[in-house]
Amino acid sequence: MAEGRLGLVILGGFLGAGKSTWLRHQLHEGRFARHHILVNEAAGTPVDNLLLGGAARLTVLAGGCACCEGLPALIAALRDICDAASGREAGQIDGVVLETSGLADPGAIAAALAADQVLARRLRVTEVLVLADALHSAAQLAAEPLARAQAEAADRLIVTKPAGLPAAELARLVATLHRLNPGAGIEGAEQGVPVALPAPGAPYDLPALTGAAPIRPHRLRVGAEGGWVALSVWLSALLSARGEDVVRVKGVVRSPAGRLLLQSVRRVVQPPEILPEGEGPTPEEGVIVLIGRNIDEELLARSWARFGA
Ligand SMILES: [Zn+2]
Repeated sequence: MAEGRLGLVILGGFLGAGKSTWLRHQLHEGRFARHHILVNEAAGTPVDNLLLGGAARLTVLAGGCACCEGLPALIAALRDICDAASGREAGQIDGVVLETSGLADPGAIAAALAADQVLARRLRVTEVLVLADALHSAAQLAAEPLARAQAEAADRLIVTKPAGLPAAELARLVATLHRLNPGAGIEGAEQGVPVALPAPGAPYDLPALTGAAPIRPHRLRVGAEGGWVALSVWLSALLSARGEDVVRVKGVVRSPAGRLLLQSVRRVVQPPEILPEGEGPTPEEGVIVLIGRNIDEELLARSWARFGA
């Protein structure tokens, strides 16, 4: 509560950058133990919170990106936390960590909070951390205005999964990030653990961006029971055909082995993760969230209905 205001750490980064993994590791290490963790899911399926079991205080803000349509909910939640920190939980809360949705511009959030007359007196942004996925970041920075806005908003940039990229390319990515945001420190992290990055190489030339269709979340109901093998086949086909437009897929489906967390980043489908039963808030089973551009939700539902049948 330095300066009498509660500190807020904003954790941002593009879809699939590894924000939950990073945060989960920090919690595991005992960092942010007395922080209130706010997790924003743009698409209304609270999944990440399942992975953050180490947080003592956790609130999920589902159903809208906190930098735009979900902003009123974020402001309400932060006001509640400030009330608690100076009231019933006085002396127990050291700060707030907001894990943003991958669709959020952390700079827009910081600006909106500073403009809120109540929060401006009670809350201050102590750090904007932005995670950049080593494998996808260069392509995202080249194509996505949002990825650039996120990198530019950071106080500290963390390149995640650097082991997956050759050192020469990593050096170019570091230089590209540094050119976009010369004021930010740049670090590496593997599964949340700090790792060294190579010295900057030659930065990539980023093209001017105009007119890219906005990225939006879409929900696809795939049924609670069975069919997850068909689903993964259909998903792979979809990603191979539309991988440039489908930025992220995420959802929980029921399988014979239990609840499976399905995730993809671009064309890369991650190995399904089996989720523990019954712990914490239950995510909606059988709903897949696809985040991308130029997606016709009805067309998508019809395609799956035909394939699943
Ligand atoms: Zn937003």
